[in-house]
Amino acid sequence: LLRVTGLEKRFGENRVLRGVDLDVARGQVLALIGPSGSGKTTLLRSLNGLERPEAGVLEIGSDVRVDFADRDIRQGVLAARNRTSMVFQHYNLFPHRTVLENVIEGPVQVQRMSKQQATAEALVLLERVGLADKRDSYPFELSGGQQQRVGIVRALAMKPDLLLFDEPTSALDPELVGEVLAVIAELAAEGWTMVVVTHELAFAREVADEVVFLDGGVIVERGAPKQVFQSPREERTKQFLRRIL
Ligand code: ATP
Repeated sequence: LLRVTGLEKRFGENRVLRGVDLDVARGQVLALIGPSGSGKTTLLRSLNGLERPEAGVLEIGSDVRVDFADRDIRQGVLAARNRTSMVFQHYNLFPHRTVLENVIEGPVQVQRMSKQQATAEALVLLERVGLADKRDSYPFELSGGQQQRVGIVRALAMKPDLLLFDEPTSALDPELVGEVLAVIAELAAEGWTMVVVTHELAFAREVADEVVFLDGGVIVERGAPKQVFQSPREERTKQFLRRIL
């Protein structure tokens, strides 16, 4: 479903992605792990057109292809953005809109869905994550875990092919992490295709089909969670796991 090749991104002198190749099959759940500053977030944002790499090709399905070396990539990036939805570390909900308004914004404004239809679909999704009764609340009235569940519903409302999660639980108090991971695990079980940047290794082990270890802007190792966590092949992976386990 997704394929990137030769992705390169720098911020000034800092080469953050140094030729990343990655592919994700439909229905696959990929956990992206790696030390702070290794480029995980930058990679994820590049898949959604939120960062512009200097080089590399992004393909989604058989009809979206963006060559970042091209001068004008606007059409391709718009198409890529239509097929992917991002869930952010800090939820990024619109603070002055209600839960329901947050969820229907994309479908109504971007996809030109009728407000009535968007509302009906939003309520089904909110019901699923146990938040239908919060439809008229504002983000500040919700816990972090509830806000992030709204963030997930907002992403789902766009019916993307690919869900991108950027450390979705790292801003949460420990007791709220579980409720958000449970929703993500449920989506994985339903067959959603997703890339999850996460520091939650136990979660990655349980939910991911494959783990990708990124370090210094390159993919150092990729494999089944069991293999990567229990018998990593690369020395850098071993060092990283020793530090955090
Ligand atoms: P973390 O786990 O801490 O979130 P990460 O692996 O997601 O780290 P990135 O956020 O992708 O890492 O950052 C990789 C590098 O790129 C870092 O050195 C960071 O300082 C740099 N960087 C990221 N965004 C920008 C930006 N907008 N401008 C300048 N440098 C940036």
